[in-house]
Amino acid sequence: MDILQNFIDGRYQDPIHKNYLDNIEPATGLVYGKTPNSCQDDVELAVNAAQKALPQWQAMPLEQRADILYAIAQGIESKLDELALAESVDNGKPVSLAKAVDIPRAASNFKFFAHACSQFASESHSMTGTATNYTLRQAIGIVGCISPWNLPLYLFTWKIAPALAAGNCVIAKPSEVTPKTAALLGEICQAAGLPKGVLNILHGSGASVGSAICNHKKIKAISFTGGTATGAAIATQLAPQFKKLSLELGGKNPALVFADCDFDDTVEQVFRASFANQGQICLCASRIYIERPIFEKFKQALVVKAQALIPQDPASPSSKMGAIVSKVHLDKVLSYIELAKSEGGKILVGGAQVNLAGRCANGYFLQPTIIENLPNQAQCNQQEIFGPVITLQAFDNDEEALTLANDSQYGLAATLWTNNLARAHKLSEQLNTGIVWVNCWLLRDLRTPFGGMNHSGVGREGGFEAMRFFTESKNVCIKY
Ligand code: NDP
Repeated sequence: MDILQNFIDGRYQDPIHKNYLDNIEPATGLVYGKTPNSCQDDVELAVNAAQKALPQWQAMPLEQRADILYAIAQGIESKLDELALAESVDNGKPVSLAKAVDIPRAASNFKFFAHACSQFASESHSMTGTATNYTLRQAIGIVGCISPWNLPLYLFTWKIAPALAAGNCVIAKPSEVTPKTAALLGEICQAAGLPKGVLNILHGSGASVGSAICNHKKIKAISFTGGTATGAAIATQLAPQFKKLSLELGGKNPALVFADCDFDDTVEQVFRASFANQGQICLCASRIYIERPIFEKFKQALVVKAQALIPQDPASPSSKMGAIVSKVHLDKVLSYIELAKSEGGKILVGGAQVNLAGRCANGYFLQPTIIENLPNQAQCNQQEIFGPVITLQAFDNDEEALTLANDSQYGLAATLWTNNLARAHKLSEQLNTGIVWVNCWLLRDLRTPFGGMNHSGVGREGGFEAMRFFTESKNVCIKY
């Protein structure tokens, strides 16, 4: 049995109180390992290690810091197969997806911020004839990074890399549901020469170790990605502590498909945007609005593709759709499908758990599900389901499409599918989302701001936005 350890002060350690949680493989429903359920005392150890490491890390020449981050990226690349397999076993995603997307992007995160730290500059404001101001951007100190289960190593490193690049020491917690690749990151950091105590990785539940990280007085900033309800609870707790807080939360992302789109390509891409990673990407499209003249044809094309996408053992190289991450989550997604039926929704395809043969007989598989006939105010169109479930609605003009898309408490990402340039620009301006993709989805340039508005979060990650979050700015005014 695979028993994971925390990574504190540059070495692997058991949790102080020897409490563990089961690691379950979603494809089989079987326990395959144990993960520490750390607590306040483990956080204390990690904070002490980080505090000792901080002066050396902050004083290190930028070039040397960048070299270490780059070496971590190379370490991730050199373990591509091992990490991809671990991600697939933990999360249920097809191993081919982990190999093509999750792990390479985790390496890219470190490469990108290895470069970014040497390009990050600050401003100067001249008061001509009187004074000069310049802005210092200084590392915060010890920061906390908490990430979810859907893109485990990818999102974990998306926070850790800029936090380290900016000169902070980090206490990081992956999701208890998918801890394995985060655990492997410790040995990669050791081999890359990261000084001990600079990155400390603690495992365990949100209620136990997550909360202890958020509330520790010496941890001065929290970067959190996860559900909106968790984000709200953390924000409520942390407000009186005046910590810096970045929240990347849930979404209910609209796709607006216009009659003038490139039909075949749009079908292909909207389908991928709906069902990639079993629909468990915060950026996945879940509300699909289709202009009426092509509604029936587009709907049929999506249904045909969904019928052909059969969940398979994620370990199989041919698998294009794996398992839902956990039994609890599968039940949640299924309950939304039942709710959709009770709200008058018509299930066009899917809607049921799939039972595979062999080693996956007890796994958590779900058919891709497409629903129509639900009004925009139906709960299944307003609440985040975070699974392979989409709804279809028709619209008649741009204004109606925009109203439907913006009729949501969330505001993470939208996609527009049209060949009308003026419409694309105009709607991009008017959509209440932090990200708009036009005729594409998940095309990422790591320099761009990433994040959502309203219930999708506060603050932006990516590029210098992340470097700004992980630094304190200080103005120095010099009178002459
Ligand atoms: P959760 O909010 O349940 O958990 C996210 C992380 O927070 C986990 O590591 C969790 O620990 C931890 N946590 C839970 N409670 C607390 C607490 N009180 N204090 C500190 N940490 C806590 O989200 P999920 O893991 O279920 O992830 C899915 C959600 O993440 C979806 O809503 C999705 O939209 C969102 N998401 C947003 C993204 C974005 O960029 N906007 C990107 C990806 C996902 P544990 O689970 O181990 O107990």
